[in-house]
Amino acid sequence: MSDDLKSEYESLLQFLYMAPVGLVQMKSDGEIVMINPLSAQLLLPIAPDGDLSNFFITLENIAPELQNLCSSFTKKRGQICDALRVQLTAGIPGKEDPKVLAFSLLKLDADRIMAVISDVSLLAKREKQLQHNEAWFNAIFSGVTEYALVSLDSDGNIENWNVSLERLGKYTANEVEHKPYSIFFPKDSTDEERLKDRLAEADENGWSLFESWCLRSDGSRFWGSSIISPLENALHEHFNPPRYSLIIRDITEKRNSTEDLIKASFNDHLTGISNRRAFFEVAGIEFERCKKRPRPLSLLAIDADHFKKVNDTFGHATGDEVLKHLSAVLQDCVREMDLVARIGGEEFSALLPSTDMQGAIKIAERIRSSIAESLLEVNGQKIRYTVSIGVSTVNENVTGIDMLLKIADEALYASKHGGRNRVTAIHPQAVKIIDQ
Ligand code: GH3
Ligand code: MG
Ligand code: MG
Repeated sequence: MSDDLKSEYESLLQFLYMAPVGLVQMKSDGEIVMINPLSAQLLLPIAPDGDLSNFFITLENIAPELQNLCSSFTKKRGQICDALRVQLTAGIPGKEDPKVLAFSLLKLDADRIMAVISDVSLLAKREKQLQHNEAWFNAIFSGVTEYALVSLDSDGNIENWNVSLERLGKYTANEVEHKPYSIFFPKDSTDEERLKDRLAEADENGWSLFESWCLRSDGSRFWGSSIISPLENALHEHFNPPRYSLIIRDITEKRNSTEDLIKASFNDHLTGISNRRAFFEVAGIEFERCKKRPRPLSLLAIDADHFKKVNDTFGHATGDEVLKHLSAVLQDCVREMDLVARIGGEEFSALLPSTDMQGAIKIAERIRSSIAESLLEVNGQKIRYTVSIGVSTVNENVTGIDMLLKIADEALYASKHGGRNRVTAIHPQAVKIIDQ
């Protein structure tokens, strides 16, 4: 190498080293060839045992999709993904923001991949606020022709309604009068606590906005956007006791057009259930609710047993089918208002609002036994597998979802240690000791 070229190469290296973004150069199997200090700083907290030798192994549990994207990228070179968001932690409400990294991957040639990593935690936080505002403006300004307007008393029971309720939901007066507003939503997707939450949120913020499945009188469903706000009298004072307005709009069409987008960023590419990012988002909201108006909230950490062996015996593709089966069983075993998500490779979790430890153990046991009892058939091969589960529940010592997840993981570890295919719960009273 000539001196000129050498010094150019050195200044390039110097640039890479000092670059204000994280840069990692790796081989196609993920083996790290070059990593600059910023990348190391961003990735070290998630690297198993602090080992940063392989990019895919480092991220295997948090963003398995990165490896999948690389292996399914068939072009000789080009951009594999652009600023793909990966949420690392849930953060602590009021104290610490969620940690979100963005990954852009570039295939340089057959055996070289470059990753550009940036910390977008702040940006993600601002975007979320903006989305909220946008949803609110949309709700006010668009499609105001197809909406149902209902007034509610202080307990959320229906007082009055406009004619479009009949058009939108085919309801008759007898079906709605004095009924709780929950009649507009599928039974499994809401409960008494949730109904009260929304009224309380409307009191605090001036409004409560949510998108969900809604029910027509005949039991058919539509995707609706609902807003609850406190009603005011002619003097712009809130009624005492309070009264509320509820506006429901059918936004099925809008949902269909944005569904692909939602799916790509909030659903796991393999199983179709929520991903880590969606989980942290929903779990964060749920956690804050239960801090404000105390009620139980439990969490299950679920991990497939000896999954390496499943892959080794039946092949990776069959392993994927097992993971799909596992997520289907999880969804079958919980209510619609619960949230199941794929947190990492073969690790799942279920968030169970308004469910105490006893209730959570029951659900965990139902999941464990239905998996242990199923005989799966994939490509003519018969497969049995098991899962281990850890259960945690919120008490006053639990500061955030990260901590709740950590406790569930401790319980999961105990299940593994105790022989697998079992459920272990860590009692809230024991939490303080664990956190030390
Ligand atoms: P344990 O009972 O202690 O949990 O053992 P294990 O083998 O399940 O645990 P370990 O964490 O050592 O291995 C997890 C395995 O899961 C390794 C990894 O290749 C596999 N895995 C992770 N993501 C996927 C995936 O998307 N598809 C398939 N087929 N396998 C995956
Ligand atoms: Mg496992
Ligand atoms: Mg695991």
